[in-house]
Amino acid sequence: MSNQQSSAVRHDWTPEEVTALYQQPFNDLMFQAQTVHRQNFDANEVQISTLLSIKTGACPEDCKYCPQSGHYNTGLEKEKLMEIQRVIEEAKAAQEKGASRFCMGAAWRSPTVKQMPYVVDMIKQVKELGMETCMTLGMLDGDQAKELADAGLDYYNHNLDTSPEYYEDIITTRTYQNRLDTLQNVRDSGMKVCCGGIVGMGETLRDRAGLMVELANLPHHPESVPINMLVKVEGTPMDQVEDLDPFDFIRSIAVARIMMPASHVRLSAGREEMNEQMQSMCFLAGANSIFYGCKLLTTGNPEADADRDLFQKLGIRPEQRNQEHGDKAEQAALMDAVKQQRTDAFFYDASQAS
Ligand code: SF4
Repeated sequence: MSNQQSSAVRHDWTPEEVTALYQQPFNDLMFQAQTVHRQNFDANEVQISTLLSIKTGACPEDCKYCPQSGHYNTGLEKEKLMEIQRVIEEAKAAQEKGASRFCMGAAWRSPTVKQMPYVVDMIKQVKELGMETCMTLGMLDGDQAKELADAGLDYYNHNLDTSPEYYEDIITTRTYQNRLDTLQNVRDSGMKVCCGGIVGMGETLRDRAGLMVELANLPHHPESVPINMLVKVEGTPMDQVEDLDPFDFIRSIAVARIMMPASHVRLSAGREEMNEQMQSMCFLAGANSIFYGCKLLTTGNPEADADRDLFQKLGIRPEQRNQEHGDKAEQAALMDAVKQQRTDAFFYDASQAS
């Protein structure tokens, strides 16, 4: 395969083709993914975002993997929508420690008329800090997407989760088409799209290929593609599902990289359960985005230190913020946050929200 062919942006993938991509010898797949990666990105840079849950638990949706669903008893403490002032404090704390993008997640089916002004205000105030903003709030209609875009929201996260064929085994309270409609509304509003899925939910290889086909055959590739490994949470219907072979996860990262060459592929939920070697293989396969650390404002955060250690071992640098948003001071702060062995503690894992 020539370099040009391997890096082409395509929207006409077939399930058969993608299944064959998955099944090629591991070393060939990794080589192809790394080749595509280097054609499009600095292979030693990883983009870093922070994530705050602004409303946790009691979600009316029934996503079988999710501890935030109100349908399952997982012992998760339910919370009301976080006060704006606290969100801003969290954003400031994250910014001081080097974060350039602040992602906010709410466990909602869709924001209500009453909730919209709060989230709009949050976006405006976080933007005023000079940060990029991302939200995940559930389904959006066209007007809601426009309202968020007008407020300055840069990214909207809404995942497809799995293949259309397997989808009904996982979620019954919203359809695949609902999700595609939200993605279209987000795209039409001018916001950037963050959209991926989850592997390890008992799906077949064909389903994993089907998810990738759906993502890559969208009219525009999502700018950000989170690939999540199922985190089995006691009390959810998926707590006993069979473990996915780690190589199948790494292959999924590689396939996403090849099919969506210019997108950031995010090593997302499940990362805490991967050892350093597996995470390294994911970076080699083309993952170039992570959520940094895993708890927000908790004291002591060994995971954040572990991330910094791994970055240092691998010679990975945090990706500098897009020049169009250029703020050299923030870029420098982001670099410092990884270089220095500080005991920062400001991250919250809400990566399964919506
Ligand atoms: S994944 Fe999102 S929509 Fe589904 S139950 Fe969890 S919070 Fe609700």
